[in-house]
Amino acid sequence: MSERAVPFHCPYCGDEDLRPAGAAHGAWYCRVCLRTFTLKMIGIGAPG
Ligand SMILES: [Zn+2]
Repeated sequence: MSERAVPFHCPYCGDEDLRPAGAAHGAWYCRVCLRTFTLKMIGIGAPG
């Protein structure tokens, strides 16, 4: 399982105009709502 996760949509506004945000690992920047966020996989399988 690769750590690389590429978001296809902004989780906040749903737009697709996402760019990598600087050097932070897994950080993305949404050019539409101006939010910067990171993706982190917590686990795999059903929760709980
Ligand atoms: Zn957005």
